[in-house]
Amino acid sequence: MPRPIQALIHTEALTHNLGRARAAAPDARVWAVVKANAYGHGIERVFQALRGADGFALLDLDEAQRLRSLDWRGPILLLEGTFEARDLELCSRLDLWHAVHREAQIDWLAAHKTQLPHRVFLKLNSGMNRLGFTPQAFRSAWARLNALPQVDEISFMTHFSDADGPRGIERQLRCFEDATADLPGERTLSNSAATLRHAGGDARVRADWLRAGIMVYGSAPDFPEHDIAHWDLRPTMTLRSQLIAVQQLQPGDSVGYGSTFTAGQPMRIGVVACGYADGYPRHAGTGTPVLVEGVRTRTIGRVSMDMLAVDLTPVPGAQPGAEVTLWGRGPRGTVLAIDEVAHAAGTLGYELMCALAARVPVAVD
Ligand SMILES: *Cc1c(COP(=O)(O)O)cnc(C)c1O
Repeated sequence: MPRPIQALIHTEALTHNLGRARAAAPDARVWAVVKANAYGHGIERVFQALRGADGFALLDLDEAQRLRSLDWRGPILLLEGTFEARDLELCSRLDLWHAVHREAQIDWLAAHKTQLPHRVFLKLNSGMNRLGFTPQAFRSAWARLNALPQVDEISFMTHFSDADGPRGIERQLRCFEDATADLPGERTLSNSAATLRHAGGDARVRADWLRAGIMVYGSAPDFPEHDIAHWDLRPTMTLRSQLIAVQQLQPGDSVGYGSTFTAGQPMRIGVVACGYADGYPRHAGTGTPVLVEGVRTRTIGRVSMDMLAVDLTPVPGAQPGAEVTLWGRGPRGTVLAIDEVAHAAGTLGYELMCALAARVPVAVD
């Protein structure tokens, strides 16, 4: 028998969550963001469920190629654009739309020989200071692009740094509005957090295209302020395993490396076939939520490479072979949001789903 750990990808939940992005902005089109191998889910595994999207956004050229091999003929946007001049050949061949965020990318375009002019998304640095032209440089970048025969339509994009928190998007939104004021073309501003928190009441935020990433994968971008139930999102990835041993502890007995947990009273613990080599966060300390046979309990002690321990006090009947849900869907309709586990480990749902290890077998349901 193989080691009992398994990941499940829930395709109907992907479709549902994509629908939530659409519902948030019925007048906009939706990019399903599938970078990082669809946030760890696997592009090939999510493709059918997400093909109702208006386009796919990603940043690795090989992932764009994989989408075209799945026979996706619709829009694909390279969120970081080209990394070197010859990437443009693939853009021409596969009809990829690409972000343009610095001068060199315009130089490469100017030198590129193509029969089909490219659609580009000119990116404004509206305050995040990651990618994009400054407001001062934006107009001249637009004028350069606009003069190139290699360029067809020019659209505009920016990215919010604080759509999930109290700083909000107002300052960056104003910057984008000013910089693009009288320029013709489509616009895209919103990631998941902006879509859920800010797009509803503001057509400028919805604009022409949303870029929905994490919400599609069933994680709330503003957890713990809001959870997936609040946003009506469903888990798209379950990580599950089984108990492979049970130990009876006496007061004073400790558990795992470093003996960081010591029992204060007699208790049963279970040992789960899941560790950090499977992608479970090593920084999840004692108390991280976990389901055993659908019953909520907690981890105890340190996570090791291949195993972790759980408190069986709320599930006294649990024996080796009992089903353990590390995140996602448990038995009998139970749910453990990936965000809760991530929060306990000081990280985000994003990081956990992307870190699912290659050794974990994945099934699609
Ligand atoms: C990853 C990414 C997104 C999606 O962000 P989420 O928070 O996952 O919705 C949107 N836009 C850009 C430019 C990105 O890189």
